[in-house]
Amino acid sequence: MLETLEIKTKQTENSRLSSVDFENLSFGKYFSDHMLVADYANGKWQTCEIVPYGNFSLDPATSVLHYGQSIFEGIKAYKFADGTVSIFRPDKNWERFNKSAVRLEMPEVPEEIFLDGLKKLLDLDRGWVPGADGTSLYIRPFMFATEVALGVHPSVSYKFVIMTGPVGAYYSKPLKLKVETHYTRAAEGGVGFSKNAGNYALSLYPTKIANDEGFDQLMWTDAKEHKYIEEAGTANLVFRIGDTIITPHGDTILHGVTRRTIMELAEHFGYKAEQRKVSVQELIDGIENGTVLEAFAAGTAATITPISTIGYEGKLYELPPVAGREFSEKVLTYLNDLRYGRIADEFGWNFLV
Ligand code: PMP
Repeated sequence: MLETLEIKTKQTENSRLSSVDFENLSFGKYFSDHMLVADYANGKWQTCEIVPYGNFSLDPATSVLHYGQSIFEGIKAYKFADGTVSIFRPDKNWERFNKSAVRLEMPEVPEEIFLDGLKKLLDLDRGWVPGADGTSLYIRPFMFATEVALGVHPSVSYKFVIMTGPVGAYYSKPLKLKVETHYTRAAEGGVGFSKNAGNYALSLYPTKIANDEGFDQLMWTDAKEHKYIEEAGTANLVFRIGDTIITPHGDTILHGVTRRTIMELAEHFGYKAEQRKVSVQELIDGIENGTVLEAFAAGTAATITPISTIGYEGKLYELPPVAGREFSEKVLTYLNDLRYGRIADEFGWNFLV
């Protein structure tokens, strides 16, 4: 189908690269010179081009604005000391993107557009990939429904886009999380495992309440009983109880690439690794009796962010000090060394541009 779909490039004449303050990168502030745009209509991908970053013009009846068929991904690319640009496990994001697409009745995006297109885009914008420790090029692929029509039905046309931008750290301090016992992020049979825009929209109101109470983020629990821990707002949760590394499991959570990587590394380092249900009570009891040794949020943007405090039903529970958390430190050091090309890529996770 794609043999004839050539990715054309229209290069910018006005690079904005010199306006970037690489010493002060926050998250989501800068966008690179180019973006990839592919259009789907009449049952197939029609065009795919790399063009200067810029606006879209949308008819008010564009279906995404009304019915929310919109999905995305988050990936990072890093720069090695020798200048090599490397994307971390984008194949896993491509697979997850297509799972999201299927669940939202959207077309899957072929490897030639998602992965080969991404490589071509980063090749052109490699000057935008920062190299300092803690920095990276954040990559945001997304797709939305473009049919101009009202009425609830799957759109007949879609736009797939990849935009990128240099970033620093997303969370800069240990997290204080509130266990959510009223609002729900995802239910069995719902769309929790997909990375669709609606999952983030619905999180804003309960998260704002938690922020007003002094928490950084929520710890979502199951829809039915609010007894089992699911994930944080934009990251998965990982706990170390004794010498076992545990992460919640199921189709109501987003299956993070970072989470998967950490569980693979846990086994590699000789810890026991379990993906299973974790009840709030198990966590609280473990904090109180000292068996919960580490807890962190894991995600592409968050990387590994330690959790310092958990709020549950009006009480605060303090986790052990962040300094000296053996597993978190070991994983973070390993991942940083791997992503910046300082150690051998024994698992084949670096996708070189
Ligand atoms: N859960 C949610 C809700 C997220 O938004 C993210 C960030 N993509 C994650 C988990 C972590 O996923 P990943 O490690 O693939 O970034």
